[in-house]
Amino acid sequence: MELWQQMLRQSIDSADDLVKRFNFDKETAERLNSLFHIRINPYYLSLIRYPGDPIWLQCIPDAKELEDDGLPIDPLNEDNDSPVPSITHRYPDRVLFLVTSQCSMYCRFCTRKRKVSDSTKISMKYIQDGLDYIKAHPEVRDVIVSGGDPLMLTDTMLEKVLQGLREIPHVEIIRVHTKMPCVLPQRITPQLVEMMKKYQPLYVNVHFNHPWEITPEAKQACDLLADAGFPLGNQMVLMKGVNDDAEIVKELNRKLLMMRVRPYYIYQADMVKSTNHFRTPIKTGLEIMDKLRGHTSGLAVPYFVIDAPGGGGKIPILPQYVLYHDDQKIVVRNYKYEVFEYDEVTGQSRVAEPAEVDERFLRKQPVIIRERRRRASKSKSRAAVKVALDKPTEG
Ligand code: SF4
Repeated sequence: MELWQQMLRQSIDSADDLVKRFNFDKETAERLNSLFHIRINPYYLSLIRYPGDPIWLQCIPDAKELEDDGLPIDPLNEDNDSPVPSITHRYPDRVLFLVTSQCSMYCRFCTRKRKVSDSTKISMKYIQDGLDYIKAHPEVRDVIVSGGDPLMLTDTMLEKVLQGLREIPHVEIIRVHTKMPCVLPQRITPQLVEMMKKYQPLYVNVHFNHPWEITPEAKQACDLLADAGFPLGNQMVLMKGVNDDAEIVKELNRKLLMMRVRPYYIYQADMVKSTNHFRTPIKTGLEIMDKLRGHTSGLAVPYFVIDAPGGGGKIPILPQYVLYHDDQKIVVRNYKYEVFEYDEVTGQSRVAEPAEVDERFLRKQPVIIRERRRRASKSKSRAAVKVALDKPTEG
């Protein structure tokens, strides 16, 4: 048995463990465990510094999960886009391929908790159905291998999945979505990486949420993956008390880049049943993005997205940088809230003329900008007119 498998065996993974280790009362512990299975492996447990810290919040159940928050169990409507149990096919050219229900740590905020940890819903027995579906759909060129955590499969089983995908001529890209480098980095072994290397181009998306998760062990795991040539991206979930602070996100993203992991997405926490206590106002995410862009390397600035309820897909949300735009010019502001005018291309431009644009998408001209235009038109040069704009007050 490999080290990571031995560590898994020593996980906290029952209501009784919760009672013994964290003084939960038995009934609450049992209700929490039946709502969503408990598993905290000894590595991730060792990252906790004090009760209620950002690591604790992600892995130790909270009685708030038992409150009736009125949220749905499948907010992204994945089950409706699921032609076979292991596949979600929502976008034209890519599918989500669920290959196991198991994870080395069950995150209390998990979007897919209706299925994760339940082997009747995601199981290896559905893998062949998934491969057959992908084979029968030549439009699928990108497959996201997920679960659960696909690296919970043994090397042999994972290789069967990767080999099966590579035998399908129209599959161009394989993406493995795993939390292992963060929650159980001992899983990333030289043997695993050697096996995965045979199935390039293969992208690995990891899932770090807080700078305390960037440890020497995590760095070693990411180094192994990066040295093998897998492009690495990070998906972070924005959560109250965990990372809802621009300085924390900045520190996390800088540390990720030092491990050759590119920050890819910040997700607004999904509206999933029993996770309401993690959700933050949209404004928090926008403020974090505002304090990243321009203030740190562009490489450390991911997309902030909302996964639209009901299956609308990921929609990027940006702070307001465009203050005004018509057929003559655009007025934009930079990260220091300085405002600039930039002349629009006219004449031979292939950009749609305003008359062709649906009225609903035309920006109304704000009063404050009209005033600026009047002043700007008095200036000798219309290009790059820079005016001061007060920064919004903090908070
Ligand atoms: S590792 Fe991923 S799938 Fe597993 S519990 Fe955490 S968020 Fe859910």
